[in-house]
Amino acid sequence: MNAEIISVGTELLLGEILNTDAQFLARRLSETGIDVYYQTVVGDNRQRLSESVRCALERADIVIASGGLGPTPDDLTKEVLSECMGEELVMHEESLEEIKGYFRAIGHEMAENNKKQAMMPKNAIILKNNNGTAPGAIIEKNGKIVIMLPGPPNELEPMFNESVLPYLKSKSEYILYSRVLQIFGMGEAMVASKLEDMMNEYENPTVAPYAKTAGVRLRITAKCKSEEEGIRLTEPVEKKIKEILGDVVYGYGDETIQEALVRLLAEKGLTISAAESCTGGCFAGMITDVAGASGVLNESVVTYANSAKMKYLGVREDTLARFGAVSEQTAKEMAEGIRKAARADIGIGITGIAGPGGASADKPVGLVYIGAASKSGTTVKRITLKGNREKIRHQACVYALDAARRAVLDMAQTDC
Ligand code: ATP
Ligand code: MG
Repeated sequence: MNAEIISVGTELLLGEILNTDAQFLARRLSETGIDVYYQTVVGDNRQRLSESVRCALERADIVIASGGLGPTPDDLTKEVLSECMGEELVMHEESLEEIKGYFRAIGHEMAENNKKQAMMPKNAIILKNNNGTAPGAIIEKNGKIVIMLPGPPNELEPMFNESVLPYLKSKSEYILYSRVLQIFGMGEAMVASKLEDMMNEYENPTVAPYAKTAGVRLRITAKCKSEEEGIRLTEPVEKKIKEILGDVVYGYGDETIQEALVRLLAEKGLTISAAESCTGGCFAGMITDVAGASGVLNESVVTYANSAKMKYLGVREDTLARFGAVSEQTAKEMAEGIRKAARADIGIGITGIAGPGGASADKPVGLVYIGAASKSGTTVKRITLKGNREKIRHQACVYALDAARRAVLDMAQTDC
C-alpha cells in the first residue's frame, strides 16, 4: 500500500509554521510498511485543495490530510475531501455531544461555529479527538482510503497512534518488525561499504544505514506476520552485522551513547570520573542525564586553568610548559590524575580548543585530546572537530563517551 500526505494550511506555505505533522506521519507510515511517494502542501483554498486531492487519489491508495478541520470558514478540508469522495456531510450527534462536553469541561460557551465540526461525512469511521474539538474521519470507498486529521500536533499525533494506526494495521496482513543498531566511530559510507552485499542482496529483512548528528543508525527491517517471526528473521542478520562491524556497534533502539556507557559500567560494576577542560562539565552533565548515573559516577571535575590541572590532577608543570595544556601528554596526565584522585576505574581527561579564539598554527580550533585511563593502561585520542564552540564541545563529549566505552571493553578483554 502507498500513501500521500496532504498538509493543508496557508501558514505552512508562508513558512510561518514548520510542517511537523508531515514529518510525524511520514515516519510512522514508513515504520508501518506503507510507502509514501508524494507529500503535498496546499493552502486553505477550495479549488487548489480539491485539485491536490483528486491528483493524490489517482496515484495513491491512501490519502492522509492534516489541518483545516476547525470551525472557521477557512477550514475546508472536510468539505472538499468528502466532495472528492462523493460523500455528503451530515450532523454526527455523538461528536456534537463530545464537543459540547469539551466546552463544558473547560468552562467556555460553545460558539455556533463549533457545530460545523460535528458535520461529518455520512459513511465514515469517525475518530474521536481526546485533546481538542475537531474529530477526524476515515472514508473508505472504491478501493481508496481517505483519512483526515486535525492540524495541531498534540491532537493529530495521539489520534493517529490511537485510531489510525490500528486501522491501517488491520488492513495489512503483514507487519514491519525492525531492530535498530546504534553505531559510533565509523562513518555512514564506511558502514555502507562494509555491509554492501547485505544491503544489496537481502530482501527480507532489509538493512539500511541512516546518518545522524553523531554516529549512524542501522535499521534491520523484516516484513512478517508476527513479532516472533520478525525476531527469527532479524536476529541472525544482527549477529552477522556485529561480527562485520565489531565494537563500533554500541547500542540498540533509541539508546544514546551515554546511556550505553552507563549501562555497560553498571553491568561490570565499574566507576568513571572525568577531568574536563574545554568541555566545562558537559561530559559529566551528559552522564548524569542518564537515570542510574549515581551508581557509576561519584565525582568529576572541571579543571580549566593550568593551576587547577596541577592542583587537582597532579599534571606536571613541566608537561604544561613543554607541550601545552592542549596536548597528548596533558590529556594523559589529566586522565590518570583524575582516576587516581577519584579512585575510579576509568579516568577521562578532555582538553582542547573550543574556539573561536585560542588557536595557533599547529593547534587549530576544534583540536581536542581525549585521554582514557584504566588499569589496562592509558590511551589518548587526537581529534579535530569542525563547527562552532557549542558543536565542538558537544562532539568532544560524544567522542569522550565513546573513548570511555572502549576503555571498559578493553578492561573486560584484559580480564578474560
Ligand atoms: P483548529 O481546530 O485548531 O483550527 P485545524 O485542524 O483546523 O485545527 P489548522 O487550522 O490547519 O488545523 O491549524 C491549527 C494549528 O495547528 C496551526 O496554527 C498550527 O499550529 C498547527 N498545525 C497545522 N498544520 C500543521 C502541520 N502540518 N504541522 C505542524 N503544525 C500544524
Ligand atoms: Mg483551523
